[in-house]
Amino acid sequence: MSLELWFTEEQTKNLRISCRVKEVLYHGRSKYQEIVVVDTYEYGRLMALDGAIQITEKDEFTYHEMMAHVPLHAHPFPRRVLVIGGGDGGTVREVVKHQDIGSIELVDIDEDVIRVSKEFFPTVSVGFSDKRVTVKVEDGVKYVSTKKDYYDIVIVDSTDPVDIAKVLFEVPFYRSIYEALREDGIFVAQTESPFCELDILREAYGNIKRVFESVWIYWGVMPTYPSGMWTYTIGSKKYDVSVPRRACSVETRYYNSDVHKAAFVLPPFVREWVGME
Ligand code: SAM
Repeated sequence: MSLELWFTEEQTKNLRISCRVKEVLYHGRSKYQEIVVVDTYEYGRLMALDGAIQITEKDEFTYHEMMAHVPLHAHPFPRRVLVIGGGDGGTVREVVKHQDIGSIELVDIDEDVIRVSKEFFPTVSVGFSDKRVTVKVEDGVKYVSTKKDYYDIVIVDSTDPVDIAKVLFEVPFYRSIYEALREDGIFVAQTESPFCELDILREAYGNIKRVFESVWIYWGVMPTYPSGMWTYTIGSKKYDVSVPRRACSVETRYYNSDVHKAAFVLPPFVREWVGME
């Protein structure tokens, strides 16, 4: 008889993903959520919050590169960047690759996510040591509401819209972000899978459209998230963000100028399901 240990996420009521586990590295409860870190055979180390996979060593780059480099290459001269959520540090790692950026703030509500990522995911949390980065442990909704006309880019790297993250998908939060952005600012948020969380995507897209002048959905591959097809919704005050304004200037494994352009080409079924004209 051989004993096997598996990590299983229930992605929907009728769909699960399982990864065979080599070792359990961390299991604890923060003030806000259950945090698990396991080493898996297929995807390397994996962090889950309340049972939902947030990052794995093998595929996190696809998500973090698309979160960071699409808005950063769509803006002609980004100087100040705010990341809300993203306590693992993956998005910040990508942002710090842009040498012209002067300041990067990360606001995550849960200090334990930041601590656990620093301990178990050094290649993901590496950007936290960049001297332009300031980390704040606060509710992103409250934090952004105190800022006006300040940021060039705001990135919302949140958990799914339940409990503490629910407000991160609602109109008042998007309005605060709009006000916190400068006159040509750009905002992007992860907006889930069209296959598994269509209602969330539809609602986020509709809510962002109520606030921003121009809104697009773009997509990428993210194997360990539900269905593997992942969307990002981006709101812009001024620029057409569907085309990069500059050639890719940083080292990447997923993002480049062609991927940027291709990501905005939505398959007809997505346009239809989301109800786009
Ligand atoms: N890429 C991930 C995904 O889509 O599965 C998200 C990663 S990141 C770990 C999500 C972070 O959002 C968590 O660390 C969580 O603590 C943070 N978060 C949730 N609600 C928040 C809020 N209201 N303010 C700030 N951070 C929040």
